[in-house]
Amino acid sequence: MRVLWLTNDLPPRAGGIQQFVGNLLDRVHPDDTLVVGPAGDDEAAAHDARQRYRTVRLPGPVFPTPRTLRSTLTVGRSHRPDVVVLGASWPLGELAGRLGDGLGVPVVSLSHGLEAGLPGVGLGRLVRRATRDLAALTTISDWTEDRLRPHVAAPRLVRVPPGVDEERFTPDVDGGRLRERWGVPPDAPLVGCVSRLVPRKGQDRLVRLWPRVRAAHPDAWLVVVGEGPLASRLARAAADAGGRQAGIVLAGRAPWEDLPACYAALDVFAMPCRTRLAGTDVEGLGIVYLEAQACGVPVVAGDSGGAPEAVRPGETGTVVDGRDDDAIVAAIDGWLADDRGRADAGAVGRAWVERQWSWTAIAERFARLLDDVVGA
Ligand code: GDP
Repeated sequence: MRVLWLTNDLPPRAGGIQQFVGNLLDRVHPDDTLVVGPAGDDEAAAHDARQRYRTVRLPGPVFPTPRTLRSTLTVGRSHRPDVVVLGASWPLGELAGRLGDGLGVPVVSLSHGLEAGLPGVGLGRLVRRATRDLAALTTISDWTEDRLRPHVAAPRLVRVPPGVDEERFTPDVDGGRLRERWGVPPDAPLVGCVSRLVPRKGQDRLVRLWPRVRAAHPDAWLVVVGEGPLASRLARAAADAGGRQAGIVLAGRAPWEDLPACYAALDVFAMPCRTRLAGTDVEGLGIVYLEAQACGVPVVAGDSGGAPEAVRPGETGTVVDGRDDDAIVAAIDGWLADDRGRADAGAVGRAWVERQWSWTAIAERFARLLDDVVGA
């Protein structure tokens, strides 16, 4: 199977879609893949040289312009692909028809959170235009798929969510080093969140409600990992709640290599996210819940967007209304009080991630989709 990718989102640039695309590229026919991507610097050139797939970088961003079309058709013809894959359906889907006709092959596209937000602000027609010439469109969650379905013109919708690197995120990772760095005692019950610091994610509630959790668990600690616009407001809230004396640590951004240990250090992962701004600020899925479960840690999730789909309620964690203080406290309290329950949930969560959410499983699903559209 020879594959031609066209994508504006590509490692080494950081970001969720870049990660998503990079993980599929690594695993799905990498030796027979050519990627047409955005302009890059020296770091990008060094990154590209290390990959099994070949990358051609355009002089600027990959937008659906006549120039992008011409360049892609030129390099595409020399590659002789069986299928074209778009890294995101909007706006690149605008080129699908001319690419498919020019190369004589089907075009498949990924979709992410953004496309699912378009119908909500009256732009469903953009989704229709961008999907009318696709053989299939992938979706990341039930929640995004429900929003997209009425507007998608492609004949097939297939679930291909972003996944977790199950070999990197494992229960075997030692979190002790991170506890030491954070100044948390090795045996203290530890609740934590790893995420960008933005209102939607709910770190503000965790900090504000922490004294209530501590009333029932006087030796418990809370660590908030991440950076973002909410940082200074959280620092004030943490100080108001008692700061380190009350067992609250704001740890800042974690380096990429420490990420698995951040989760492994925890007894409970909590991110009580909530939908904001009339539904436009919403969780598409919540990869962090899956990363935590891959490390064998039960999760407390908010009921925003696709987040509940990243948990098996009662089995691997709890889903709460991210605006319900009592429910948030009760969920954290429940898991902290139940050592056996946490261990069982951790094991079930790990097995579920391996089966459903590992990049290995997801890449297989994507490879099958390519087989299907090429064979059809
Ligand atoms: P999004 O930011 O709204 O897309 O939230 P997701 O939960 O979908 O994904 C966030 C990704 O960023 C996850 O893979 C997190 O592990 C990662 N992340 C969040 N905070 C940090 C941090 O402080 N350091 C590092 N290295 N990664 C982080």
